[in-house]
Amino acid sequence: MVALVCGGVGYAVHDREQDARARPVATATPPKHPNQGTSPPTKTAAAIAARRVAVDTILLRRSRAVRIGNERLFLQDIDPANTKLRQQQKVLFANLVEIGFGQIDYNQAEERFDAAAVRAHGSTTYLVRVLMRYQIPNVDVLPVYTELGYSFVNRGGRWIIAADNDLDKDLGPGAHQEPWDLGRLEVHRGPRVMVLVDKGDTARGRAIVTEASEALTEVAAYWPRKWRGSVLIAALDDNDVRDARFADEDIESAASAGSTFSSLPGEDSADGTVAGAYIVVNPKERDRVDEILLSHEITHVATADLGGYEPLWLAEGAAEYVSWRGIEAISGPGEVSKWEQEVIDDALPTLNALPTDAGFYQTNTDVYGVSWLAVRFLVSRIGLQPVEDLYEDLARSGTDQSARDRILLTRTGFTEASLWLALKDYHPPR
Ligand SMILES: [Zn+2]
Repeated sequence: MVALVCGGVGYAVHDREQDARARPVATATPPKHPNQGTSPPTKTAAAIAARRVAVDTILLRRSRAVRIGNERLFLQDIDPANTKLRQQQKVLFANLVEIGFGQIDYNQAEERFDAAAVRAHGSTTYLVRVLMRYQIPNVDVLPVYTELGYSFVNRGGRWIIAADNDLDKDLGPGAHQEPWDLGRLEVHRGPRVMVLVDKGDTARGRAIVTEASEALTEVAAYWPRKWRGSVLIAALDDNDVRDARFADEDIESAASAGSTFSSLPGEDSADGTVAGAYIVVNPKERDRVDEILLSHEITHVATADLGGYEPLWLAEGAAEYVSWRGIEAISGPGEVSKWEQEVIDDALPTLNALPTDAGFYQTNTDVYGVSWLAVRFLVSRIGLQPVEDLYEDLARSGTDQSARDRILLTRTGFTEASLWLALKDYHPPR
């Protein structure tokens, strides 16, 4: 038996509305121009403007340092007395240079207040949310964003970075937890693949590139969408990478595909705009990364930019469909038929509807198997290409249940309820 479990399509589908609601939307309040209006400029306004320029200059220096590979320049604005922070920043710098960003810049979003940060760094503390915009060549099709929070302090008239983690608890999921924010990395590349492992974990990095290349071939063969993108896979000795939280899971997953955003949730819209997805592997499962696991995850990556509004039974069912087609190609139809019958006999009777988005990743029921069966059934009824068209339509426009029902009914003749009833009567052709 091959058990494929995955932490799902990040918070693109199930959590992101909640996340967006929980996070304050950036308020666009530009600092008052000192020479604007009729009243004379106040000292405070001038000081705020000067601080803004100083911080902008530091942020520009950081991105330039990465682009030209100058560590001294990168460390120039880090608190000289904070040995620990300087050491972490050295690791970060080395990681950023090794990944080889085609574009990287940092921009101030809004100021945040945190009493603990002021207590730690003093009354001049300026805590600001920072948007890091970047593009990894051959991975990100568009520039994407990730959040950071920097604490600046003024020492003798000069602004320096005193901390980079004071705001972490108030940022969105995965912020300051990107692969390059953790330990020292090693980068492995293949055509359409970038694999990040811990420094020295070379054999694993190479092996994952090989498995991912096989998996890319399977996704191209078994999922009709013409997708020519690349995958980034992080397989690090860390339970918390991006929005993956493997240690907190009730049902342990082997890997997850979490969204990248060309516009973060809460910036231009509540949901944000998904640009793609990166794969993160559970550290406990790192030795078992194979093309079967990766073809499931890469199916998520290959559909991530469609919008993410498809129901989870379709997202996970499609990913399972692709990886089981790969198994079928290797070991013949016997194993697949056996597994299909087990889902019909054991999993189907424990449910009374298609698996819902709510609780999908928390249940002990084999919702993956049932979702896979539903996709197999739809493919047998209407064909693979129409199922792929259905997927795209739902991913783009399935924003609520009535939209989902309308799209499903129009394209398949089923509602979720009648699809479930048909599934209960399904006798797969043998
Ligand atoms: Zn999945």
